[in-house]
Amino acid sequence: MPIHLKIIYTGGTLGMQPGHQGLVPASNFAERLIAALEASPEHNRQLDLVEWSLTERAALLDSANIVPANWEELAGLCLNTKGTDGIVIIHGTDTLAYTSSALAYFLQDIEVPIILTGSQKPLGAEKSDALDNLVGAMLEVARAKPGVWVYFHQQLMPGARVVKKDAIGFAGFATPRLATLPEEASPCPRIDWQQSHRDWSSIQIATTQMVPGYNADHLGALINTRPDAVILSLFGLGTLADQNDALLSALRAAKQKNIVVAAVSQCYIGQIDFSMYSTGAQLALLGVLNGRDLTLEAAYTKLLVLLRMGYPVERVKQLFEQSLANDMSSDHS
Ligand code: ASP
Repeated sequence: MPIHLKIIYTGGTLGMQPGHQGLVPASNFAERLIAALEASPEHNRQLDLVEWSLTERAALLDSANIVPANWEELAGLCLNTKGTDGIVIIHGTDTLAYTSSALAYFLQDIEVPIILTGSQKPLGAEKSDALDNLVGAMLEVARAKPGVWVYFHQQLMPGARVVKKDAIGFAGFATPRLATLPEEASPCPRIDWQQSHRDWSSIQIATTQMVPGYNADHLGALINTRPDAVILSLFGLGTLADQNDALLSALRAAKQKNIVVAAVSQCYIGQIDFSMYSTGAQLALLGVLNGRDLTLEAAYTKLLVLLRMGYPVERVKQLFEQSLANDMSSDHS
């Protein structure tokens, strides 16, 4: 039985070609892919039972230029699954983990696998990983469960758990905060994103990373821009300098202004647990949300998606701390 799949080509290194100042997204990808497959009988053979069609985005993007509205546009394209066993999205690697997280929140009820992939070297370049990743992702459509996935360097990873871990090496992605793949998706609340209420451009989320000697004026300045939310990237298990009074005052000001403040760990493998150190204990009292083992990418997209719904702040806070799309572990263990 042949597998039917759709490929959506958004841009990214996998299809890029040299421009005047470095690599740029390039069009006519379907023709180039057919030529590359003809030149690589080994890959071509693997696709013997795969029937694919390709949709090329009119404006191709280096993923550094992707904005939240593009996630929603992609989610809309993925809803059209009639006659397909799955969808492969070719995406730049730089912001792929943000898009895969956003799609995981949007497409919780999708009935086929949606698999994002990209590569570190363009199709046709010497020793490129492009065909391995793309053909591998296409074959995974027949094996993967419904949901949003990232396929890269022979690994299939859940969309809301991945981070880009290597800027150049072929093993570009990992799920450092996920010990084992969940057997079954646990039940979680759904977001009816097609009924969303706010413009993307009206939603402001600031991020700031703690460093020794952090100048609280920076957080103060962020708060004065009146964002909807601030994501704090904290030390280790969720600590900051609690002897820095100005920093605590800035957090108090955020609370008074009803700004959502959420914490993630800046460790590669890490999760927030405010109960371990007294330098973290105050944060829970200041209303800082516990992002547990959410990646920054998932925390950012989760807040954007929740705020886009126009939910009251209390509802945003409540949903943020719950597992959605299997994005976080359900307890502190
Ligand atoms: N800058 C590129 C992009 O994200 C990097 C890549 O695709 O690997 O589109």
